[in-house]
Amino acid sequence: MTGQTPVQQTGARGSAVRTCVADLEAYSPPTDPAVLAARLGRPVESIIKLDANENPFGPSPLVQERLSQFSTFHVYPDADQRAARAALSEYAGLPAEHLMLGNGADELIDLLMRAYIEPGDEVLDFPPSFGMYAFNARLCDARVVDVPRDAEFAIDVDAALAAITPRTKLILLTSPNNPTGTIMPTADVRRLLDAGPLVVLDEAYAEFAQADGQGYETMIREVLDHPNLVVLRTFSKWSGLAGLRIGYAALPTDVARHLWKIKPPFNANVAALAAMVESIRERDYLMGTVRTLVAERDRLLCELSTTGLLRPHPSRANFILCDVVGMDARDLRDKLADNGILIRHYGTPLLRHRIRISVGRPEQNDVLLATLCAIAAEGPPA
Ligand code: PMP
Repeated sequence: MTGQTPVQQTGARGSAVRTCVADLEAYSPPTDPAVLAARLGRPVESIIKLDANENPFGPSPLVQERLSQFSTFHVYPDADQRAARAALSEYAGLPAEHLMLGNGADELIDLLMRAYIEPGDEVLDFPPSFGMYAFNARLCDARVVDVPRDAEFAIDVDAALAAITPRTKLILLTSPNNPTGTIMPTADVRRLLDAGPLVVLDEAYAEFAQADGQGYETMIREVLDHPNLVVLRTFSKWSGLAGLRIGYAALPTDVARHLWKIKPPFNANVAALAAMVESIRERDYLMGTVRTLVAERDRLLCELSTTGLLRPHPSRANFILCDVVGMDARDLRDKLADNGILIRHYGTPLLRHRIRISVGRPEQNDVLLATLCAIAAEGPPA
């Protein structure tokens, strides 16, 4: 014993933690409904949760039955995800060796960043978009290069091409985009694919756009032809499995080879894998709920503007981004919460005056509309 205190290496911010972690702004997740229920002294079932783009009809009843009969929770999942990938291969329409399941699409975003980014590399992001892209990129010490969208939230492909440098490693595209609901023309994706860096096309909400009859071309099978295209999908949204955490990536051979090396062996849990396989079998039932949500989305797109508080933007997904008029968007979020309704508000400059509303069940949407009208009738604070 020398009695000396071990020397702690400290970084730029006076802590041993990596500088990019010290500088990172925590991701702000949606409010847990139990927290709001406790504050309001109401049962949690009465909270109307329209803040995380979940399927409010929940999973198919057969998923619930399958999980209640499941008897091997004590055994680790198959690290190679063989049975699940075989089922998914049929659903996604491409060979199993091009598929990887993750603990939500979130995990696959994280794995891609960790596989591709060296400190100081660049990623192209198109705000407003899904916040986890910039979050995970910063965690890898990447420089996030923002290429702003136009007034209709479309990506300016010429500006994106001009922003590419030799350090650009990933181009993060989302179709439909969260939170704007915009889809990206495949011709635009192709122009960016021709530029060279890895294009990650996040199709988390594809099933909603496929169900609305307005035309939607998935690019999932194009990973077979493009060595620099990855397509992300999830079972969180259309099939009601957000709480189980199961998403997937469609990958070209070479990307797959490297991602399998760094994938935590048991990343997708047994309950999630079983529920996913059952959801694929139950896709007709689940797509029925998707069609109901799409019809409700289109009803809300008309009716939200009649409240006098909101100007909704067109959407191809199961949520609607709205400009808030005549009152502060954060105050509106708070007033809705006081009435037991959770919606999403982001404090970023592009979204400060807007809110995002997930489409609920018809009766939940009725309550939302009535509450918005009541708030509008109260008028501005004295
Ligand atoms: N991509 C987008 C565009 C999303 O909106 C979300 C969820 N909010 C995800 C990915 C993550 O999905 P998962 O639940 O599968 O992690």
